[in-house]
Amino acid sequence: MTDQTASEIPTLQDIVIVWFKRDLRFTDHEPLYVAQQQNLPILLIYCFEPTVMDYPDSDVRHWRFVYQSLQDMQSKLDGLNAKIYIFHNHITTVFQSLSEKYNIKNIYSHQEIGNKITYDRDLDIQKFCLEKQIEWIEYQHNGVIRRLKSRKNWEQRWTQKMEEYPKIVNETQWNLMNLDDAFFQDLKGPELSIQITSNEPAFQPGGETNAWKYLQSFLIERNVNYSKHISKPQLSRKGCSRLSPYLAYGNISMRMVYQYTMQHYKTASNKRALSNFVSRLYWHCHFMQKFEDECRMEFENVNRAYDSMVKTKNEAYITAWQTGTTGVPIVDACIRCLHTTGYINFRMRALVVSFVVFNLWQDWREIKYFLAKLFLDYEPGIHYPQLQMQSGVTGVNTIRIYNPIKNAQEHDVEGIFIKTWIPELKNVPTPLLYEPWKMTSIEQEMYKVIIGKDYPAPIVDIDESRKAASDIVWAFQKTKAVKVEGDRILQKHVNNPSRPRNS
Ligand SMILES: Cc1cc2nc3c(=O)[nH]c(=O)nc-3n(C[C@H](O)[C@H](O)[C@H](O)COP(=O)(O)OP(=O)(O)OC[C@H]3O[C@@H](n4cnc5c(N)ncnc54)[C@H](O)[C@@H]3O)c2cc1C
Repeated sequence: MTDQTASEIPTLQDIVIVWFKRDLRFTDHEPLYVAQQQNLPILLIYCFEPTVMDYPDSDVRHWRFVYQSLQDMQSKLDGLNAKIYIFHNHITTVFQSLSEKYNIKNIYSHQEIGNKITYDRDLDIQKFCLEKQIEWIEYQHNGVIRRLKSRKNWEQRWTQKMEEYPKIVNETQWNLMNLDDAFFQDLKGPELSIQITSNEPAFQPGGETNAWKYLQSFLIERNVNYSKHISKPQLSRKGCSRLSPYLAYGNISMRMVYQYTMQHYKTASNKRALSNFVSRLYWHCHFMQKFEDECRMEFENVNRAYDSMVKTKNEAYITAWQTGTTGVPIVDACIRCLHTTGYINFRMRALVVSFVVFNLWQDWREIKYFLAKLFLDYEPGIHYPQLQMQSGVTGVNTIRIYNPIKNAQEHDVEGIFIKTWIPELKNVPTPLLYEPWKMTSIEQEMYKVIIGKDYPAPIVDIDESRKAASDIVWAFQKTKAVKVEGDRILQKHVNNPSRPRNS
């Protein structure tokens, strides 16, 4: 080893890093806004992390959306001779190598309300930053408050956050830096798979530009039927905002959605629709706050008293449900539609969950990752609390066991949704479509579908299974143990614990 005097030690260039995660946009981006004020070169990075991609909730559809979002961001940088550096590597390896080449003053990012793997990853990064004396500053994600002491005034704090002036960066003043190409090539990791980098037109396309298009078309035109169509599996595809994946991957901030909606509200002809919509923006953060405050919800019943409720895994039932072959048309149509498009509306999500956890009497944990993979808009902070609420294991929400026949008759009146996703039933007239097993053998011949051969007979008796589940869950709901835990949950997660809410 040779001795080096202080003057011989090469000084590393000072830089700051903006680390993009589920905040894939440039508009109203606080980490970027603050980084810009440091008067240091800014390195923009995103990392496709192998461990996160291997986690059981992850699907190629999510990474394709992320990739498209990054492409959209890059297209805005092209004219500036700048880049967002995309790695497919372990983030600790990336930061380690960058810290050997540069003096990283700060890392800026948004707080991530994620699953167990991203939580653990954040702990590793915290440790790394401490060792390297790098200041990692994380900013609040939408309306969700980290280390929240109490839900008191949370609603007011949410509104205040939504009404704050957005953090707009001035593109002409960006001081973005480029990495040495050889260094980047060494560090960037393997190419992403073709499934991630190629388009899949059946899914909503990612990116900030698309987020704004969806928001504008909803506020200008599509909102007129919002309240009327929100529960309809077919019509909701146009009548709802469809902003969920854009919010989940941060292609648009909640604050921008809120502020644009309030601007339109003043002149809107359908004010009720827009105020219903704003309530849902609030719910988005409300559910995420619950998860932020009690992230064990990914694995455990939020109400521990339900731990003693016995459900035995039935592989055949789960497979039938997962493949859209339960023999109950609306359930099968929803699951098949999810496989192909990544979206169904709220009521149909609640209905398919109700069917598997009540009629098929399966534990929500058996299907949590399967649904997470199917939802293009998968947001852990909404997914797990919603899943538990719909599974009747919170002890504080009304238990809803959805009747799949009645719901199909009411919300898929002409049967278009069912026929689209179950072509086996395309010739069956609507009155018979919802319960095809009731067709006579002559009708089955006539409509070219033999039940049990071309399309399955229902795997359970709907009425009997509903009654059996209902007896158990209502008996549980009345126990002292559920109530005690229920009080704890209300104290922790509700603004006004004396008033149980339906959210
Ligand atoms: C079991 C289950 C799992 C769910 N998992 C997710 C998920 O992973 N990601 C997700 O974004 N939504 C989830 N939801 C909530 C809801 O179904 C979707 O947000 C909604 O269908 C998205 O469509 P949209 O954007 O057109 O909604 P809109 O009705 O236009 O609402 C606007 C936005 O408000 C939020 N929102 C709407 N409804 C709810 C709700 N009930 N709870 C919380 N936020 C809401 C969403 O961000 C949505 O984009 C889940 C619901 C259930 C029952």
